[in-house]
Amino acid sequence: MKLLLILPKSERGYWGQISRKGKAGFIRLNLPTIAAITPGEWDVEILDARAKPVDYNAKVDLVGITGFTADMPSAYEIADNFRAKGVKVIMGGVHVSAMPDEALEHADSVIIGEAELVWQKALEDFKKGVMKRGYKAEHLCEMKSMAIPRRDLLDRKMFVTGFNSLQATRGCPFNCDYCTVTSFFGHEFRVRPVEDVIKEIKGFDRKDFFFVDDNIVGRPRYAKELFKELIPLKVTWGSQASITLAKDPELLNLYAKSGGKYVFIGFESLSQKNLEKMHKGWNSAKGYKEAIKKIHAAGINILGSFVFGLDEDDKTVFKNTFDFIMETGMDAAQFHILTPFPGTVTYNVLEKEGRIIDRDWAKYHTGEVVFQPKGMTTDELQNGYYWVFRNTYTIKNILKRCLRSPKGITYRIGLNLGYRKKALRMPYLHLTSQT
Ligand code: SF4
Repeated sequence: MKLLLILPKSERGYWGQISRKGKAGFIRLNLPTIAAITPGEWDVEILDARAKPVDYNAKVDLVGITGFTADMPSAYEIADNFRAKGVKVIMGGVHVSAMPDEALEHADSVIIGEAELVWQKALEDFKKGVMKRGYKAEHLCEMKSMAIPRRDLLDRKMFVTGFNSLQATRGCPFNCDYCTVTSFFGHEFRVRPVEDVIKEIKGFDRKDFFFVDDNIVGRPRYAKELFKELIPLKVTWGSQASITLAKDPELLNLYAKSGGKYVFIGFESLSQKNLEKMHKGWNSAKGYKEAIKKIHAAGINILGSFVFGLDEDDKTVFKNTFDFIMETGMDAAQFHILTPFPGTVTYNVLEKEGRIIDRDWAKYHTGEVVFQPKGMTTDELQNGYYWVFRNTYTIKNILKRCLRSPKGITYRIGLNLGYRKKALRMPYLHLTSQT
């Protein structure tokens, strides 16, 4: 029996797109993980629709599709086309789990929650011809002895970096209003046994990798144990972490010593009021500069993430954020327009306040305004976003930040040039328009 697992495309976003040469950023683990828990009697193929056209005449018995909110129009189109050919379609993922009824207009069945718990039951039912409309994971899955994702099913040539990605933990101990992590993975922060993680890394064909975890230091004791085991492997890696990393000198030192070369940190806002309102008050805006200094002193590059359009933001937020990035010598930064993803507190609040103005999921890629902000117009928010992105990645500003230290400069410049490519796709607005 043939199972075709499809990653749809996001038509409009700046993130996760395929380059002109058909290359993707890094490996997403969701479909390789599903493939790994699929019984051996199935012939499994993974198709990345971002890079390859979908063949609707292909001989397949079942199609599985997952994707982020912005991928949904593409996901639904693919599902509709297969179903028109009489092929059954099952869908899952964060968006589908939040909007199962919507997904069921396009799919024969949906998976709600973590697929590991119900996938095999869904396949058994499919074989018997009794596949249900929905399979709900009633609890969170155990992270012991997790299946190793079937990376062998991916076309490795289509990834720019070539490095592997893996997961050591799931969830986040925090619960920021706009984030889907806690609404999907629950409040419980779960960890894989360190020996399982190390075994998976030892099987890699390269010494560099990325932990896709939402917060690799979510449980500091576990993180320290993991980092200690990484030291003898002489690897280099990066991950996402909360800024609490900087508060624990031992953790920070082990992060660096174990090969942690860069860290994605969600600073989100320089306004403490914003942080508190979104339940991220433990991020202390006042302490950001000190934290950045400490992380840099440990030899770790910082990729900061900032969100615009929060209720306390007015149009000065763009220039203030840009100045902060330049002043702190932040190695790179990602910018996002606040986006009310279904399933989040932000979605519920904005919905209740009647402030969601666009429900085209294709625009939910954090680069387009889909809601009515409080402190500025939608145009000011959209243009400010373009402005800060373009200005952060001018050659002059890239060099200013990258020259902060000779150590790792090649890596930093490469990283910045990657972001610059995204920035160049955005309209250019003169600096004075934001001051
Ligand atoms: S700290 Fe990051 S991953 Fe955790 S809930 Fe907040 S935004 Fe999400």
